[in-house]
Order: sequence, then C-alpha cells, then structure tokens
Amino acid sequence: MQLIYRCLRCQQTSRVQVSKSLETLQCESCDWSRAVEPGELDEQERPQRCLACSCDDLWRQKDFSQKIGLMFVGTGILLSTIAWAYMWPMLAIGILMVFALIDLSLYSLMRDVLVCYRCGARHRHTEIDERHVSFNLETAERHRQETARLADSK
Ligand SMILES: [Zn+2]
Ligand SMILES: [Zn+2]
Repeated sequence: MQLIYRCLRCQQTSRVQVSKSLETLQCESCDWSRAVEPGELDEQERPQRCLACSCDDLWRQKDFSQKIGLMFVGTGILLSTIAWAYMWPMLAIGILMVFALIDLSLYSLMRDVLVCYRCGARHRHTEIDERHVSFNLETAERHRQETARLADSK
C-alpha cells in the first residue's frame, strides 16, 4: 500500500510504499522516524491504525479529488448551458446525462482510502477492513479538541 503523511517534526509531506516487511517509517527530510509495530498492518496488509502516528481512528473516503469532481461536473453544466442557449434542449439534457453517468462510474470505480483523524495521513491502494467507517463528525471533534488541548499544555 501507499502511505502519504506529513512528518510530525518537519511537516514535510512524504509518499512511501509500505509492506508488511517495513519496520520503520523514516522521514526523507529530517531524522524523524517511527517504528511500525507488528499488528498495525494485519495479515492482508490492511492498516489497523494510522502508520504515521498510531492513532486508532481512521475514516474511509473515496480516493477521488473533490476539486476534480467539481470541475468535471462544472464542465458538464457549462457545456449543457451552451447547448441550451443554442436551442438544442435534447443535446443539453444529453450532455448532462453523459457527464452524470461518467461521474457516477468514476466514483464507483474509485477505491477507498483511509484517512487518519489525527494527522491526516492517507493510506492508499490497500484492502480496507470493514470496521473502518466513513467520516464521523463526533470522532473528528474529539480529535480536534485533543489536539487543541495538547497545544495548550505546551
Ligand atoms: Zn521530517
Ligand atoms: Zn495519524
């Protein structure tokens, strides 16, 4: 699987390939490293915890950039409006339908990615354990407060 994380020390974003044999996560830009504990990746190499900060809470989302998705939908609407302006209603509706269909199929083809609530690390190209569910505001809020508390106590 692939892990994209931000170094906890130098804030540099790194992208690394992770397999079961990986024992330490080493930042490419500074000397920060973290030992990957056995069990953090299970037998099927599914992450059980965040590999960058060992946080237990991960949420799953589609590995699909929202920006690209919105741009795509926007293009469809624009083309359709142009067709509409030229009095081609069937074409206008057709364009919208085609774009909606492509959007839908892209979405269902996208694989899920696991995102860490605490550090935002993304675990990609991996099988995902069913126990990880989609974004939960309560959990996010708990982590936000925890982080704020930690920052206060420094
Ligand atoms: Zn670093
Ligand atoms: Zn994390």
